[in-house]
Amino acid sequence: MGKLIWHELSRYISLTASVYAVWASFWGFFFRKFFWDFIGGILRSPGGLQPSPKFALFINVIVKYPIVQIGTMALGFIIIALEYPIPILKGTAIFRSIALRVVLLIMQAAGTVLFYQVSLHTQFEAAQSSGDLFFFPSEVSKHEELGTEWEIRVCTALQKKPAGSPPAGEAGITPSDQADETAKKYDPFAPPYVPNLHVGDLRDESSGTEYGVLLNKYSVVPHHFLLVTKEFMPQNSPLLPHDLVQTYLLLLAARKARKNYFAFYNCGSNSGASQSHKHIQFIEVEDDGPPIERLAKAANLEVSGKPFSLSSVGYANHVYRLPTLSNGASPEQLEQVLFLPFLSLLDLVISTVRHSPDYPSGTPSYNVILTLEHIHLIPRRWETYTLRELGATLSVNSLGFAGMLMVKSDTERQALEQEKIETVLRGVGVESVHELQVAGTSMEAMDETSAR
Ligand code: AMP
Repeated sequence: MGKLIWHELSRYISLTASVYAVWASFWGFFFRKFFWDFIGGILRSPGGLQPSPKFALFINVIVKYPIVQIGTMALGFIIIALEYPIPILKGTAIFRSIALRVVLLIMQAAGTVLFYQVSLHTQFEAAQSSGDLFFFPSEVSKHEELGTEWEIRVCTALQKKPAGSPPAGEAGITPSDQADETAKKYDPFAPPYVPNLHVGDLRDESSGTEYGVLLNKYSVVPHHFLLVTKEFMPQNSPLLPHDLVQTYLLLLAARKARKNYFAFYNCGSNSGASQSHKHIQFIEVEDDGPPIERLAKAANLEVSGKPFSLSSVGYANHVYRLPTLSNGASPEQLEQVLFLPFLSLLDLVISTVRHSPDYPSGTPSYNVILTLEHIHLIPRRWETYTLRELGATLSVNSLGFAGMLMVKSDTERQALEQEKIETVLRGVGVESVHELQVAGTSMEAMDETSAR
């Protein structure tokens, strides 16, 4: 009886493994990758990982022609037929052979391990279960204001976070112990990285800049990841052409994998950044992007190729609509399309803060939101806002201006809704001088014409 139970159990395990092998081989036709290509490989941008020439055979039989996938799928079907079993095999010597099963299963495992793939999603789950990544569950509610639907995320888990573990940044929760000297000296984005958080590396060919891609150690939004410079670069420095190019390439790669991400950069001491080492962050969203993107998409532009402002929101913001870029756009093309618009928005940020009478001295702070369609820059005056009724302090970063705010309790959510999101964002942003800037540009244009 015991033997029978063991046989039945092994049969089920073997059937399950083979069904998985068939399913994996099927996807292996579409996403062709030799799993071990990182051994001795070189990273290039664009192009990503270039496998070592030693593995040319495996590249041929997995990536160029899916021979291993076909073989593993056929093997999977054979094992299923044997274990199920199909009537023709019942009672035959093949059906009774344990040795044959062992050989077939080893061959199947050896085949699938060649094209096994780890996605960002599976790595996120693995990092979480290994204890390297802390996930803080939350609930999102929608709030209608200023002609769009805003997201308010209530994350009560952040009230109980142990001191010293900073689930910072996520919609602006900055650790209270930030001033702690030791915490200040510790740079979490300096290599070597925690292997379970380290997704991969990138190298920008034109500038030689190297980046690490890391999962956010303290995640509130699943699959939140960061692009960090390998060498220390200050977070209050503007994005450089290669930062923009690599960020956009990652957004394009996500789109290719049928995922919709947007990127953000908190620049300067009042922007909501908690780390001083340059890092650009990526969040997965629904198809139509973060809430603010709906307003940007709805904006009817008289002329393309010029910055504009979302006038329905009460704070200064500068937006640029990007031309449609294909998945195969080269870094040179991307640099041309992204960098000058970014500079023109940055000029506007500087002009806006200059018009602001009591703007804090020092380098201006601002938030950057980058989607596949728009670049948004929002000048910042303060990092935090204190809710009048509750006295609770909300730290706001780019996510707040993307339309995704976060609070630590339902009471805070109600107070925020009552006080209005616009009041909070105006409180930490800067008064818009868009009309003046538009008038200024036309005055300049007039000056130029009269000078000719
Ligand atoms: P910010 O607060 O905008 O500067 O973003 C910094 C982000 O880095 C926050 O979302 C943190 O949760 C995250 N973070 C902090 N330490 C680490 C770490 N060791 N590895 C990965 N992400 C981290």
